[in-house]
Amino acid sequence: MKLQKLAIGMAAAMLLMRCSTYKPAVRDIQPREKRTLTERDLFKNGAAIAELAVLNTGEVEVETGLLLDLDKIPGAKNRKLHVPVLSYLVRHKTQGDILIDTGFDASFAQSGHGNFGCMGVFFNFAKQKPGQDVAAQLKEKRAVLKAVYFTHMHVDHTSGTPDLPKDIPYYAGKGTLADSYADIFGLCMKHLDGIEHVNEIDFSQAAAVEGLGAVYDIFGDGSVWAIHTPGHSAGHMSFLVNTTTGPALITGDASHTAYGFKNNVAPGKMQNHNEGEATLARLRAFAARYPKLRVLYGHDTDGSIVP
Ligand SMILES: [Zn+2]
Repeated sequence: MKLQKLAIGMAAAMLLMRCSTYKPAVRDIQPREKRTLTERDLFKNGAAIAELAVLNTGEVEVETGLLLDLDKIPGAKNRKLHVPVLSYLVRHKTQGDILIDTGFDASFAQSGHGNFGCMGVFFNFAKQKPGQDVAAQLKEKRAVLKAVYFTHMHVDHTSGTPDLPKDIPYYAGKGTLADSYADIFGLCMKHLDGIEHVNEIDFSQAAAVEGLGAVYDIFGDGSVWAIHTPGHSAGHMSFLVNTTTGPALITGDASHTAYGFKNNVAPGKMQNHNEGEATLARLRAFAARYPKLRVLYGHDTDGSIVP
């Protein structure tokens, strides 16, 4: 048994030495829009501009302690569960399609570790049905992507990228790529291979909405907004989409679950705990002011995740 473990360890070490994760260059986007907006400005161009489709591309095994700060929930015990891995297709009436997060590519239907390399091959944490991968769903919808935006670049948000076009711009918030987890645990993914650079939006130069924080107008017409929501990851972005059926807030992993959002329990895993709690408070207050706002959570499509 000891020998077996040693052999696995040596194989892993060899794999680790041979591969590493490619990281694209970072190009700063300076919006230079230091104006103050009102919340009303976020909704004023809302009528019938964009359609939003939530793509469920598979499931990943996580622990409740990652999704929720269990210290804040009396009696809660850490346990494992599978949660959906999501991607969002935003279809602008005149400016075309963009994708927010990339979900899983088709490799996750073949094995539980999908496109995770190196040490990743020793884990089986994902599930996917054939045809559930992001590219298959985009093809079925005849989507033609103009750009990809990442809420953040943890592996469960970038795994679909290998199946997407490389000659379109990729965007994230400033500091996101450096906080991507790519090399943690020696998983060495190939998610970003072929992408020359990631455009990182510098929210310190962006417009600000009182009570909500810095925002970036994606199409320049007020239909779709990126909102700076750091905490779970550096540079994390949430999105407000004015859809044909009303406004929707995509929280990303600023709140993985409906339970956390409704009960004011921040994610258990944070790059910056204080920022994450402040972000959750801002989003909750915003949502409370707009009861008709549809809120979409990072890994919970039906509110079924409870501690
Ligand atoms: Zn996630």
